[in-house]
Amino acid sequence: MSTPSAHFPPRRTRIVIVGGGYAGAYCARALERLLKRRLRRGSDGGADADGVDLLLIDRNNFFVIYPLLIEAGTGSLEPRHAVVSIRSFLKRASFRMGDATSIDLERQLVRVRLGGFESEPSSAETEFEYDHLVLAPGSVTLRPHSIPGLREHALDVKGLSDAVALRDRAIRMLEFADACADPARRAATLQVAVVGASFTGAEVAGEFDDFMKRAARRYPNLRPSDVRITLIERSDRILRALPERLSRYAERSMRKRGIDIRLNESVREIGDDHVVLASGERLAARTTIWCAGVAPPPLVERLALPKDERGYLVCEADGRVRGFENVWAIGDCAANPAPPGSDTPIYPSTAQHAIREGEMAAANLARVLRGEPTLAMDYRTKGSAAALGCRTGVAEVMGVTLSGFPAWWFWRTLYLLKMPGLARKVRVATDWTLDLFFPRDDVQLGVHGGERR
Ligand SMILES: Cc1cc2nc3c(=O)[nH]c(=O)nc-3n(C[C@H](O)[C@H](O)[C@H](O)COP(=O)(O)OP(=O)(O)OC[C@H]3O[C@@H](n4cnc5c(N)ncnc54)[C@H](O)[C@@H]3O)c2cc1C
Repeated sequence: MSTPSAHFPPRRTRIVIVGGGYAGAYCARALERLLKRRLRRGSDGGADADGVDLLLIDRNNFFVIYPLLIEAGTGSLEPRHAVVSIRSFLKRASFRMGDATSIDLERQLVRVRLGGFESEPSSAETEFEYDHLVLAPGSVTLRPHSIPGLREHALDVKGLSDAVALRDRAIRMLEFADACADPARRAATLQVAVVGASFTGAEVAGEFDDFMKRAARRYPNLRPSDVRITLIERSDRILRALPERLSRYAERSMRKRGIDIRLNESVREIGDDHVVLASGERLAARTTIWCAGVAPPPLVERLALPKDERGYLVCEADGRVRGFENVWAIGDCAANPAPPGSDTPIYPSTAQHAIREGEMAAANLARVLRGEPTLAMDYRTKGSAAALGCRTGVAEVMGVTLSGFPAWWFWRTLYLLKMPGLARKVRVATDWTLDLFFPRDDVQLGVHGGERR
């Protein structure tokens, strides 16, 4: 950390957080609580030696509640209710909306294209100096170049606009299929391949199957059984992060609903209306949804910081990037060591871990500012839950396993309780209650590409 020179007036310590998702936003909020009066909002002058400027940078002015993204995409939740405004989430920290394009570790500054419009000539690039840098830019969908057609034809679910676009596409396919005179063509239009059966893939397959089959009932020429979802998973079971009993339950329950699950199988090629499996089989699929893994974001790729073999930032137990006193990394972009005795050597890439990593890094940063030694991050996974559509789910919480309706109900209650802010809780609870009694809207929203990644 740089110390003020004797020849200059003392200046406040500058903390810059890049990425205002789960990890970054919760880190900022914890720092607001821990630093209280030392924090000053905006550039309101002051050269108090113990003052702190806290700045959060994100390319969007909201963060996504990812576990609710698929619900937003299938219409049980209003899409706006699945995001949180960063400005209302934070009280004293400053916020700038923009793309962090590069970081100069020598000169300790972050370059940001304000407004986040790469192609906008008037969008100025500004530099923000830091004394402490917290990296929390999350992850991006892993899209290997080795699979022909993946980048051109597959959709992913990594943002709000993706979820809305996916729903619009499903409705377009239903409209088109209903107008098809040829039954074979009609059935082919409603075939969807979902690649990857971790939480995202399994939830997408389950919720989209439910959504499309319900919607199909309202079309005179369609039957729910015309909708065919195929879930393709490379390993021998879906939802591998859950105990085997729950994975098998989820598999049975989805198969019973007509979802075709292919285990020990991967995708070799993706076309406009098909996928080719590693076994050579060609499956009809007018829509392919890619949920097979995540990778470090481009900003992290460009940084000369220590990384593991997958490209994630290697951190010490206190959250600092190895070899750096004033660079911290949290959430999906970081390989933060998990405490001894955990199931995995590093914290998994989940929302609950991102939040706790953010809060624990904030506590350590506050300790450093007070001149105290840092502590090793210590958080034990509380459990996991997945919604599978048709008001069913699977959950494991502190060793207790649940399946079917109780797991789905638990999943919803959990996310409702964790939702930041009373207004959002009420909005989400209202959406869910209405969804119990009324059919979902089957209109296209037509808003794609507004949110950038
Ligand atoms: C569809 C889906 C469903 C999921 N479901 C679950 C679930 O049920 N349970 C669970 O625990 N986890 C779930 N996850 C995983 C979980 O959401 C992530 O682990 C978590 O969001 C990671 O938090 P993060 O803060 O590291 O990253 P993010 O939440 O992704 O936040 C990163 C932020 O950084 C910003 N950013 C990135 N690069 C830049 C840049 N260069 N400049 C400025 N800003 C930048 C982004 O705009 C974003 O706001 C799901 C993920 C997805 C995609």
